Amino acid sequence: MNNSGNLYVVATPIGNLGDMVPRALQVLQQADWVAAEDTRHSGRLLAHFAIETPMIPYHDHSDERQMGRLLEKLGAGQSVALISDAGTPLISDPGYRLVREARRLGVTIVPVPGPCAAVVALSAAGLPSDRFTFEGFLPARQQPRRSALEALAKESRTLIFYEAPHRVLATLEDMATCFGVGREAVLARELTKTHETIIHGTVAELVERVRADANQQRGEIVLVVRGADLETISADSAEQERLLRILMAEVPLKQAAAIAAKITGGSKNALYQQALALKS
Ligand code: SAM
Repeated sequence: MNNSGNLYVVATPIGNLGDMVPRALQVLQQADWVAAEDTRHSGRLLAHFAIETPMIPYHDHSDERQMGRLLEKLGAGQSVALISDAGTPLISDPGYRLVREARRLGVTIVPVPGPCAAVVALSAAGLPSDRFTFEGFLPARQQPRRSALEALAKESRTLIFYEAPHRVLATLEDMATCFGVGREAVLARELTKTHETIIHGTVAELVERVRADANQQRGEIVLVVRGADLETISADSAEQERLLRILMAEVPLKQAAAIAAKITGGSKNALYQQALALKS
């Protein structure tokens, strides 16, 4: 696209409107259009800053016509500022398809950085931050969630998850099963807002805390989990194998796996599979 307008990808606050960066305000004011995930929600943000730029809805799952309309505007030399409900667009939010398609057509993409809950949580977690992996939202149903966590059990980088408040307890319990009760983690809730809470502890301690205090199951939540310490994992698995062998000598296989699961906090099924392998 020759002479096309710019597509600005603009981050907005994740709670505290004081975090709106001056450059974002300027871009939103001067753009021809603001493309927003939810125009009613973003309308309140723009009204707060007295920005009158017209809005146009955009969602990655919306039909092709919506994206086509935006690409046409860009092609005609108009500039579009993409925002999401909060934080950085594309990060567990819409925008990926639009940015990709616009780039393919030669539109200049201009990022305007600002808050992102994952990075905000990591910056305050006090867990290793030199390498980390952003996992977004885990599956809502328990079985796929456990499979996803099991696949991450040996990941040595710090892990960052977004979680819905009504699922945080179940997710922490699954983390105890899949990562071990002693894994260090941080629950970061309502960041930048009045009820901002950052709790550090082992996964088991976080389970207890969240179970005992319903307030910890409210609002917006990021979970940051320390990566696996492979030496500890191999010591734990040697200890687990020793425990299983002792139990298998005394009781049937299934019962041995069930008792070992209770002692270690591990998954009964995984221990049963391990017991079967040991037996053969
Ligand atoms: N694009 C956003 C960003 O840059 O962080 C994330 C959007 S995603 C749909 C919303 C999730 O982000 C929430 O469910 C929560 O996990 C996390 N989140 C957003 N704002 C937050 C806040 N103020 N405190 C804690 N977590 C937050």
